[in-house]
Amino acid sequence: MYPEVQLFIDGTWRPARSGKRIPVINPSTEEEIGSVAHAGIEDLDEALAAADKGFKIWRKTSAYERAKVLRKVADLLRQRADSIAMMLSLENGKPLDLAKMDTLQTADAVEWFAGECSRAYGRVIPARADGIYQLVVKEPVGPVAAFGPWNVPVNTIGKKICVALAAGCSVIAKSAEETPASAAEVVRAFGDAGVPAGAVNLVFGIPSQISEYLIPHPVIRKVSFTGSTVVGKQLAALAGKHMKRVTMELGGHSPCIVFDDIDVDAIAKMLTLTKFRNTGQGCITPTRVIVQDKIYDQFLERYVAHAKQVKVGDGLVPGSFMGPLANPRRLTAMEGFVADAVQHGATIATGGKRIGNKGYYYEPTILSNVPKTARCMNEEPFGPLALVNRFTEFEEAIEEANRLPYGLAAYAYTRSNKRATAVAAQVEAGMVSINHHGLALVETPFGGVKDSGIGSESGIEAMDAYMNHKFVTQASA
Ligand code: NAD
Repeated sequence: MYPEVQLFIDGTWRPARSGKRIPVINPSTEEEIGSVAHAGIEDLDEALAAADKGFKIWRKTSAYERAKVLRKVADLLRQRADSIAMMLSLENGKPLDLAKMDTLQTADAVEWFAGECSRAYGRVIPARADGIYQLVVKEPVGPVAAFGPWNVPVNTIGKKICVALAAGCSVIAKSAEETPASAAEVVRAFGDAGVPAGAVNLVFGIPSQISEYLIPHPVIRKVSFTGSTVVGKQLAALAGKHMKRVTMELGGHSPCIVFDDIDVDAIAKMLTLTKFRNTGQGCITPTRVIVQDKIYDQFLERYVAHAKQVKVGDGLVPGSFMGPLANPRRLTAMEGFVADAVQHGATIATGGKRIGNKGYYYEPTILSNVPKTARCMNEEPFGPLALVNRFTEFEEAIEEANRLPYGLAAYAYTRSNKRATAVAAQVEAGMVSINHHGLALVETPFGGVKDSGIGSESGIEAMDAYMNHKFVTQASA
């Protein structure tokens, strides 16, 4: 049921030249379920040569033809969604229905960017003299090194590849070694749909070895990374040293301001669903819930009541809403965050413990009255840990929202248009969602400010980052 995952280089699935493999663990059971090929320098050199060759072919493929191939990829992803979701659930632990939704959303993203192929318009600038044409022409930047994480591996790697291909670039993708099979199936759809050999390549191995080799290499012209801020800064620094463009989608610690004029139970329920989906392992999950005094106690009581209803279990068991954490590092992190917060004076409103001793399960956890000095108030929890604190005045809430160097997503709930507009204007975030959880649609920008990253992973902004703007001025001879 779980495949032995290979590298995809120059249109061929194959093992690493060294034959080395990395084991893959099911986080629900801690059992080894398979393995993934571990690329060495020899494999990376072949991938680079393939990407160089693939770029020369793909950039000359018309936008119309590129779009046709991408639409076929979307069809294949839809046809294969059940089996991809099964692999994703096995290797990541997420519930099967969520895994299927991730896959279908990836298909939608590929289809949307197929449409963008033909809309990469340049412009004509009026000239100062007769007979002169001044054009701005968009051209693909070149081969891209794209690094995807383990929390939403299908969606992130699928989007990075389709944006690059839509722009006319070739790609060497490296997806997370913990969740390789679902990402490999996404790449397979690109290959099967007719993307020319070399235009898409997939490698796995030691992340730092791969990024340190690919990013400085002259073939690579652009870097796209989704992951932690710490690693993102290292990769951006390396890219900067070698004058490569970057798109960086990094960590967040999303504030969620709950004003006292809302339907308390409805919002508590919504925040339960959005916080604990994907076991809280999402860069835009609401984490710092800042609740206005008047409704604080009532909100906390409802939030806890809803969190207690969250069904935790193996992603393959029907009805599980929240699976295990995806790897033991997150389990250790949750245990450390909670112990530290309690030591600083926080109250465990619900949860706060590992579930069982097999599988990386952790209780849906809400901490209240969490001091700003607690680690979890400053570092991204990236797990099923919500932090609830109170505020009185509007300015206090904004100050807390903007306190951290992160600036990815921010949320607010209020019936007052005046407050909503003021939050949208004053909060330092790449995305602000008010009165609903309306982020992560392919047609809208997705990205952060400050330490949360550079650029966008979706919307028209995403594709522009994969294109050079060439100025051509031509006088009649
Ligand atoms: P990590 O920082 O070691 O790795 C994060 C991701 O980057 C992983 O996918 C990993 O394979 C990759 N990576 C790590 N070092 C790399 C390198 N030198 N070159 C290229 N890729 C590299 O931490 P982790 O334990 O895997 O994840 C924990 C943290 O990562 C979380 O706290 C969260 O902040 C962040 N994260 C963010 C996202 C996101 O969607 N923005 C996704 C996954 C993880």
